[in-house]
Amino acid sequence: MAKAEVIPERCSSCAFCIDVCPKKVLAFGEAVNSKGYKYVVSVNEDDCIGCMMCAQICPMAAIDVYR
Ligand code: SF4
Ligand code: SF4
Repeated sequence: MAKAEVIPERCSSCAFCIDVCPKKVLAFGEAVNSKGYKYVVSVNEDDCIGCMMCAQICPMAAIDVYR
């Protein structure tokens, strides 16, 4: 099953990945990273189709997609 994993320390809270995901898998969590950014987490993990759009749009290379 496909899975998107965000590397918390790289996330800069731009929300590009949240907006681009066709399955609404990603959202901001409650926690912040060491730079003070609220980072993205996978909230609907089972819905991920491995399209990689989130990883491609992320300017920080903070997302790895496994499929
Ligand atoms: S790989 Fe596609 S479906 Fe999965 S989280 Fe990223 S944008 Fe969403
Ligand atoms: S696109 Fe990358 S940097 Fe922007 S919110 Fe998503 S994971 Fe964070």
